[in-house]
Amino acid sequence: MPKLSIRVRLALAHTILLGIILSLWSAGLYHVAKGRLLAQVDAELEERFAAVRLPLSVGNGRVNWLVDRRAVEESSYIAHAIYDGSGLLLERSQLADIFALPVTDAARRAVEERRPQWETLELAYGHTVRVLNSPITGSDGAPYLLRVSRLLDQAEDDLRLLVTLLALFLPLILLAGGLAGWWMAGRALAPVAEITAAANRITARHLAERLPLRGTGDELDQLSHTLNDMMARLQSSFERMSQFLSNVSHELRTPLAALRGSCDVALRTARSEAEYREALSSNIEDLERLSHTVFNLLALARAEAGQVPLHCRPEDLGELLRDAVESTRPLASERGVSIECAAKQDVYAAVDAEHILRLLVNLLDNAIKYNQPGGQVRAEVGARDSWAVLTVADTGQGISPEDLPHIFDRFYRGEKEHGSASRGAGLGLSLVHWIAHAHGGRIEVQSELGRGSTFRVWLPVTRPDTSEG
Ligand code: ADP
Repeated sequence: MPKLSIRVRLALAHTILLGIILSLWSAGLYHVAKGRLLAQVDAELEERFAAVRLPLSVGNGRVNWLVDRRAVEESSYIAHAIYDGSGLLLERSQLADIFALPVTDAARRAVEERRPQWETLELAYGHTVRVLNSPITGSDGAPYLLRVSRLLDQAEDDLRLLVTLLALFLPLILLAGGLAGWWMAGRALAPVAEITAAANRITARHLAERLPLRGTGDELDQLSHTLNDMMARLQSSFERMSQFLSNVSHELRTPLAALRGSCDVALRTARSEAEYREALSSNIEDLERLSHTVFNLLALARAEAGQVPLHCRPEDLGELLRDAVESTRPLASERGVSIECAAKQDVYAAVDAEHILRLLVNLLDNAIKYNQPGGQVRAEVGARDSWAVLTVADTGQGISPEDLPHIFDRFYRGEKEHGSASRGAGLGLSLVHWIAHAHGGRIEVQSELGRGSTFRVWLPVTRPDTSEG
């Protein structure tokens, strides 16, 4: 079956509903009209019965009129007939002659039960008459029957006319309703076509395009609004991705070019083994920095893709801190910075030891790198309420208030020139931030330019694994 468009379906539904409502309304109208016409005929018959009954006197099987009988007959198109209690016709008007109604069950019941009985009878040639069978009491006290009747042709004609009119106008109204539905659906759906066209124009190259808002605040405007929000998010993540890629290529290109340059120079100028050694050891330093950047990049990319499974188990954070301090001690002594480690006993947290170690090493690395000879670094493990707190504080150069909100962003490096020895890719703190949050914790920093910085990592504590200790 071919798929119908929303417009066609709406117009069809509208027409069908209109059809149902109009049919019910017409049926109701017909019913009411029929009832009213019949009630009118019945009222006329009752009136006629009274008009005939008044000048009529029956008794001993005979009918006597108190006025001229012809006057009674001529003045009306309603027939009358008088029967005795056994159903024997005593007298009937000319019109009743034509009707020649048979004595029916209703007529007999009227006499027996002494109650008027109404009936509708079919005559030959498709005519219908309405009959009032009314018992009357003769002057001899015996029951008689007075029947008054009239053709229902007029009422039936009226009803037929009504049906004809309805049959004529219903399809017209339905057609008009269907067209109106089609037009209204077209108008209501017109913005959808606009939205579709605008959405088709939006590609990866044109992410800045937005769907038009008509300012009506209706459902379609809300949809456009929602799609625009979604596009803004897509645009920003797309831009961040492009920025990330260009940063990555830049980060890798610069040290690679330096390496290549120093290799070239060594090949062209070095003569002795000592000179080659010197060139190679300087290259190794660059290579180490490069591999550190690549390592951090990979770790971050995996973290963002949700591909880093954390193997958490209760760990003694003091022990992890001591390990981290020991691994950064050579760098500290190289830079003339002293490290102090104060680990409170038995602070346990369910963590991935490898990740927390990386977090601590990154923080300690920075505390040493952005320090001066003679400076100090203090590393601490403490507990506050249900949190373990890892603190790395230094007496280094501090972070400017402008840099502070951005230091956890990828590739962000402080504005101040740190000198080539402390050059990094600006990824370390992004990784630290991710690790802290991945463990259900958070990281905060306080810093004062020229006086030093304090990084605090909060991790939820756990009970130590007693089975192991
Ligand atoms: P980087 O590779 O540059 O060290 P990070 O993400 O580790 O990248 O740090 C981002 C920036 O934050 C650094 O460039 C530096 O300006 C600032 N920063 C981080 N730690 C410290 C610190 N202990 N003292 C002063 N500045 C810091």
